[in-house]
Amino acid sequence: MSELQETQKRINELRELLNYHSHRYYVLDSPEISDSEYDGLMQELKKLEDVHPELITPDSPTQRVGAEPVEAFGIVTHPRPLLSLANAFEDEDLDAWFKRISNLLPGQKFDFVCELKIDGLAVALTYEKKILTVGATRGNGYQGENITQNLKTIRSIPLSVPQEAPERFEVRGEAYLPKDGLKKLNMEREDEGLPLFANPRNAAAGSVRQLDPKMTAGRPLDIFIYALGWSEGRPMPATHWEIMQYLKKLGFKINPEMAHCRDIDEVKAYYHRWVEKREQLPYDADGVVIKVNSIAQQDELGYVGHDPRWAIAYKFPAVQATTRLLEIRINVGRTGSLNPYAVLEPVNVGGVTIRQATLHNEDDIHRKDIRVGDWVLIQRAGEVIPEIVEPIVSRRTGSEKVFHMPRTCPVCGAEVIRPEGEAMHRCTNTACPAQALEAIKHFASKGAMDIDGVGEKLCQALFEQGLIKDSADLYYLKREQLLGMERMGEKSVSKVLDSIASSKERPLSQLIFALGIPNIGEETASILSQHYSSIDTLSKATREQLMGIPSIGPKVSDGILAFFRQPQNINIIDKLRKTGVKMESTEPLRKDLPLSGMEFVITGKLESTGRQEAEARIRTLGGKAASDVTKKTSYLVVGADPGSKLARAQSLGTKIITENELLDILKNAESNPKLL
Ligand code: NAD
Repeated sequence: MSELQETQKRINELRELLNYHSHRYYVLDSPEISDSEYDGLMQELKKLEDVHPELITPDSPTQRVGAEPVEAFGIVTHPRPLLSLANAFEDEDLDAWFKRISNLLPGQKFDFVCELKIDGLAVALTYEKKILTVGATRGNGYQGENITQNLKTIRSIPLSVPQEAPERFEVRGEAYLPKDGLKKLNMEREDEGLPLFANPRNAAAGSVRQLDPKMTAGRPLDIFIYALGWSEGRPMPATHWEIMQYLKKLGFKINPEMAHCRDIDEVKAYYHRWVEKREQLPYDADGVVIKVNSIAQQDELGYVGHDPRWAIAYKFPAVQATTRLLEIRINVGRTGSLNPYAVLEPVNVGGVTIRQATLHNEDDIHRKDIRVGDWVLIQRAGEVIPEIVEPIVSRRTGSEKVFHMPRTCPVCGAEVIRPEGEAMHRCTNTACPAQALEAIKHFASKGAMDIDGVGEKLCQALFEQGLIKDSADLYYLKREQLLGMERMGEKSVSKVLDSIASSKERPLSQLIFALGIPNIGEETASILSQHYSSIDTLSKATREQLMGIPSIGPKVSDGILAFFRQPQNINIIDKLRKTGVKMESTEPLRKDLPLSGMEFVITGKLESTGRQEAEARIRTLGGKAASDVTKKTSYLVVGADPGSKLARAQSLGTKIITENELLDILKNAESNPKLL
């Protein structure tokens, strides 16, 4: 085969693949590959066509926008086409774009508008005589689908505009589903046994493109307007920025993060700021759209193919990719839970190689119908462990295997049970080595007995050499034994022994947490230490007494009772007592502390105090320091760079306070006579 023939063959393959995926994405709202993989195929085709322009055909995916509209909706012809955007993937692409426009308009100065590229569905809204008359999808750019009735169900779309609006005009925007909305929608679909939406874009597109508007009305959709398409009967401002302010005055919802940048460096700073912060947004954004601000310059720059020269979409690094699920392995946790995780064929996602993904539990695996050997769509969000979004069912060969939890523990061979009402399977052997080691690591960790120098690695080495079998054994370690360990010199051994010894004095709440009683976190441990003066009194508590404590439910109570019934646990407690670990509270018990009944949630970085320290002070004063904003939250404390909790608090009407206001509350509470 000649080189040209080979190129033609690859071009045909790429066109076929892109057409297939474009249909799944735009028409079926059910993509099988990640956007970055789709973009990769498109880039490859563009490059080949750049080298061989004679091979370009009018129906090549590079020459088209979106997909053909579906006739059942009714077709709308756009007076001015809705085109697409050229992409940038790194700063050099942006520099090249800036150089191109500077060369086209030599000597001119540019300023820009930066907008988040919301991941939803492009729509055009036409207003005639101040009334919304047509709402349409982008479709193939020239003709879209008539979805007026559906769009009218989105509350943030004005059905009429004030008198000062132009006689006839069209605005363009992105209809989208907020992240919370997707969660809610998927929960409902799960209850109804319907397939779940993989991401907010598909969910938004699937919701807007419903033949029955009642279906759309039931979905929590929203919209951001990002452009004026065209207008008649009134002169418009001379810059995009001013036009957007004008549209805002007419009642349209504009994205609050939109920014006016004076030069390309400010544009880059805006982009990089949002790469870091995008996960905190209450909706999905897949990049930043950069637009030349002056409309006169936009007109001069014009279009190339179906992309305007005056705008570019700078994409965020990928968060999704497809790969093979090679194996499902089990990790046994400290409370004996069997945690399945996926071993993946290594794949690069936004510059990070991913080899594993969480799988939560067996129900979750079956609900998503994930099978060993499947091609799967995976997703990475910030630093959290990647997860599998869905299997790609159409790529199955028949050799994939349905997963079942093992009936025996993969570490010790004991029987595995699934307690009623729980999602997790558990190993029944409390002496299981996996449980024992995890329990020791937890015992020594920060927040628990906080033994400096005794980290996960040292615990593992001591355990594997048989020097410790449970957490109490840490207190019986001899200097010579530690000196025999790898990389442990005189100095570090002394340090470790000192910190083990000083940990004997930890407050009762930390000891309760360190013991690793199922379902008892720091918060609950702290509450228990306010109601029981020692491990002894706690071990004798009845179910009724425990349930009488506000915020302690049946699950926690049963966990405590079961824990103190196990002879191994009593044995560990006896050993701890003998070695001098403090088992009593020195604090008098309090039931009516100044912050009792109040719940605080902290978001963002605190400037003058550590988060852990602030939470410890809240707890000492009888308050609750929780991690999620709920209806029960009394205050949301907002530090620097707050996360999505802020939006949630705003939507629930939770009282929002600053770090200084929190410090005032704490100071006041600490001087309360109840504490004396
Ligand atoms: P595009 O990247 O060309 O960008 C144009 C679109 O951006 C507009 O139509 C609009 O919907 C949106 N947008 C959001 N905010 C905007 C703003 N402030 N200003 C202007 N536009 C804004 O989009 P496209 O042509 O719809 O599609 C290409 C994208 O779709 C690619 O990124 C591709 O990855 C994805 N895609 C994925 C698959 C798949 O199988 N995964 C298939 C087809 C397309």
